[in-house]
Amino acid sequence: MTLIHKPATELQELIKQKQVSSREVTEAFLAQIHLVEPTLNAFLTITDELALSMADVVDEKISKGHALGPLEGVPIAIKDNICTENIPTTCASNILKGFLPPYNATIIETLKHAGLPILGKTNMDEFAMGSSTETSAYQKTHNPWNIDCVPGGSSGGSAVAVAGFEAPLSIGSDTGGSIRQPASFCGNVGLKPTYGRVSRYGLIAFASSLDQIGSFSNNVTDTAHLLNLLAGHDPKDSTSLALEKEDFTRFIGSPKKGLRVGLPNEFFKHLSPEIKALYTTLINKLSQDGIEFVWLDLPSIEYALATYYIIAPAEASSNLARYDGVRFGFRAAGTSSTSEMIEQSRSQGFGAEVKRRILIGTYVLSSGYYDAYYKKAQKVRTLIKKDFDLAFEQVDIIASPTTPTPAFKLGEKTSDPLEMYLSDIMTIPLNLAGLPGLSIPCGLHNNLPMGWQLMGKAFDEARLLQVAHQMESLIGFGGRS
Ligand code: GLN
Repeated sequence: MTLIHKPATELQELIKQKQVSSREVTEAFLAQIHLVEPTLNAFLTITDELALSMADVVDEKISKGHALGPLEGVPIAIKDNICTENIPTTCASNILKGFLPPYNATIIETLKHAGLPILGKTNMDEFAMGSSTETSAYQKTHNPWNIDCVPGGSSGGSAVAVAGFEAPLSIGSDTGGSIRQPASFCGNVGLKPTYGRVSRYGLIAFASSLDQIGSFSNNVTDTAHLLNLLAGHDPKDSTSLALEKEDFTRFIGSPKKGLRVGLPNEFFKHLSPEIKALYTTLINKLSQDGIEFVWLDLPSIEYALATYYIIAPAEASSNLARYDGVRFGFRAAGTSSTSEMIEQSRSQGFGAEVKRRILIGTYVLSSGYYDAYYKKAQKVRTLIKKDFDLAFEQVDIIASPTTPTPAFKLGEKTSDPLEMYLSDIMTIPLNLAGLPGLSIPCGLHNNLPMGWQLMGKAFDEARLLQVAHQMESLIGFGGRS
């Protein structure tokens, strides 16, 4: 097994034992990036120099006999909607072309402090709006399992970076499924922590009541170690909660006794017979291995997609008002008044999907429609949250497929926004409820990976990761060779 195929925690062991340097590890991933990028297009910016200089700092620490912190020396890739000081941060939009943030997001400061060399910035759907990474203004990212297929989205570049062995770890953001859905399509572990668990200071806002930063990795243990670094209160993000520091790896390896896992009927209703069979086999296998499953109902879930596509665009229309050609990035040339400049900058700078969201959002917030759409959606959101609360009185964890299908073909859904929106039908409810969830790979359909979504109680990530690890071991997904 070469370096790039090893999980993050194993790489760090090798670095700690001085069997390999952080520079050598980082060089191996950079070499892979340069080798496969012409095919995969996962990165928008590759930061070779930064990565190597960060690796050298770690190696110097080792040579001086200093102990390393968790994951120190193991490189990581970052989604391009997270601000990196003086490194392009575009949100894959023309409107932020050439934008160099004057500051780092809090999680970037954290990762720098923790000594994880930053390999670069990954491609995404423009402003994280999409499910296939195809709305990026710059390039199409390809799924390493089948390069004719999409990687999922919006964090498609981060998912591919890990699946393509370009990075052992990566960071994404999840507003309606943007970590779990691409993790499912690319066969890796994708975690969306509880809303409020990880600071979003410096994450370019899409829908502020839903956005959450999370990660991709090759296995649940790596994910837990990375969450140990990412989680924490940040005075700069008023939605981040001041909770006691905890070790998210603490239950891993000791299977939970008397575990009860809920299966919501609603998530299994619309599956094709073949996909349903795949999950039935999985559930049967896990039952035989001693996991107790309980079927339950989350009746308001059927309104989740509609609710999301009111609330998320409403918040986006407000968040994206700041892109006016005055303060950030792109400004249209040849205009004769301020209002024309703003209009032209926005018209030329935003892509079609972003404009669609701004239009929908402005409409549902407009006087006369506010009560009928936005206010009603907020009420339904509360009902969805209550469904989850009730379900968690009966079970420890809720499980479902992550997506109704495996990765689809590039171009297959670009002309039909509704079809595209449907690929998030199973991930969106969790964002509306603010709960943590992750996707682990659980099998193949037509040689493409499928994900198993595990959903937990608020701030119960330690338990979620424990169960995910238990199931990961039982499933024994082989990964991509
Ligand atoms: N695909 C969903 C959307 O287009 C979710 C995106 C996300 O989680 N950022 O809004």
